[in-house]
Amino acid sequence: MTPSTRYDMIILGGGPGGSRAAFDAAARGLSVALVDRDGLGGTCLNRGCIPTKLLLGATAAQPLLETQKKLKGADGHIAFDLPALQQRKDRYVKGTRQALEKRLKAAGIAVYAGEGRVASGRQGDTDGELAVVSVQTDGTTQETRLGWGTLIVATGSTPASFPGLAADGVAVLDSTALLDVTEAPESLIVVGGGAIGLEMADFFSRLGTRITIVEGMGRLAPTEDAEVGDTLRKVYAREGWAIHTGRKVAALVTAGEGTDAHAVLRFEDGEELTASKALLAVGRRPASAGIGLEALGATLRGPGWVQTDDCLRAAPHVYAIGDVNGRTLLAHAADHQARYAVRHACADTATTYDAGVMPACIYGHLEVMRVGPTVEELKNTGFSPQVSRSTLIANPIAQAYGTTQGFIKIVWVDGRIRGVTAVGHGVSHLVTLAAVLAGGSGTGQGWTAHDAGNVIFAHPTLDEAMEAAMEAPQEPA
Ligand code: FAD
Repeated sequence: MTPSTRYDMIILGGGPGGSRAAFDAAARGLSVALVDRDGLGGTCLNRGCIPTKLLLGATAAQPLLETQKKLKGADGHIAFDLPALQQRKDRYVKGTRQALEKRLKAAGIAVYAGEGRVASGRQGDTDGELAVVSVQTDGTTQETRLGWGTLIVATGSTPASFPGLAADGVAVLDSTALLDVTEAPESLIVVGGGAIGLEMADFFSRLGTRITIVEGMGRLAPTEDAEVGDTLRKVYAREGWAIHTGRKVAALVTAGEGTDAHAVLRFEDGEELTASKALLAVGRRPASAGIGLEALGATLRGPGWVQTDDCLRAAPHVYAIGDVNGRTLLAHAADHQARYAVRHACADTATTYDAGVMPACIYGHLEVMRVGPTVEELKNTGFSPQVSRSTLIANPIAQAYGTTQGFIKIVWVDGRIRGVTAVGHGVSHLVTLAAVLAGGSGTGQGWTAHDAGNVIFAHPTLDEAMEAAMEAPQEPA
């Protein structure tokens, strides 16, 4: 064991939350160490946001050209080279990881590659200790002890599995494994109709894979507005996806061996589906096991979500940010929490954490965008929201692309915008405008129809569909 080096702040986990915390703390003059076991950039860069968007971006022309073919304005066939797409994706991810490491070092942040575990907590003025176990080039392990004044736990999450429903790496894959395949499966069963399942299904459908989606809840994108789920279903069913909602899966396994290996899904009612591969996208579980947080007084909920107080603290001098605290499993939420935790640890703020108006998107040729609560969430908390809406069919840019399915729905409470929900091609580009309208620009107050009336919207843009929806609340929700 090497002797302990002391840091004002140690951050465990180098994803978007951990790296943001490291940069912000170093910028405030703190001595900072960042510990990661797997590759800087975390889930977001290595197996999440970035690789999925690189693959979706590289193939984005396909559904648009298919639409033009249906409109009789184009003809022909596009073929994608999946191994080449994968190489490009891997090169980009590696280059970005290396650039991140350089930036961290240039900021004076010590980076340790290894598995971190709490060795002791902070006692008064005596620092806590973190043990970092790293594997050496000869295969042996080395333990390094690091002293910390403040600990930020940003260890993220991993794909969830359940009894009878676990990836086996053969025909039943999790999102990490499916992101790396170099041969598009002939058919794919996607279990889970949330963001990860929908994005990966959209990508593989562009490569010619036959898609079946299975979602246990009553609709696709079940955490979104019910009308969003209806639109997704209508459009994807028209494109030939088989969609099963409200049906529970009893088992999902690989059958056969070698080149015969394939996925078999059995519903609780006994019906079976088969496909070349299956993706298990049934949520995430916290990466908190074995860190030793309980010994510091932290509470873990359910599968291990780290409970945090109103200031994102899991225990005195210990913050838990990002996916691992289970509040919002999004990269920009981890980033936002990191900024706050560092400010709070440095006594630059005494206020409690406010998640503000959190934007969220599902990407693909049909996108979902939301800021603020849904109508249902508002009603469940005692509000009487009103809605106004516009449909993309009336928008000239949507017409130009031939992507007219979808709508924008503005949710109002007492004459102010509280939330915006949209589904359709390109609507993720409207998300920051939507966040500003719902009070995410720091005002804390959503805009009124009068405020919106003062903005000049360029013509023709997709943004005009937002303008149309903002004229005034039109109907009780
Ligand atoms: P992570 O990014 O998970 O990073 C945690 C890091 O900690 C990892 O590098 C891990 O190896 C390390 N670690 C864990 N335990 C230890 C330990 N004991 N010692 C040392 N290191 C440890 N979010 C979006 O906002 N937009 C998207 O478009 C989007 N797309 C996604 C697509 C997919 C397929 C997936 C899986 C996720 C997606 N997400 C998206 C979610 C996003 O990736 C996460 O919300 C985000 O990465 C969480 O950041 P984090 O810093 O909390 O943790």
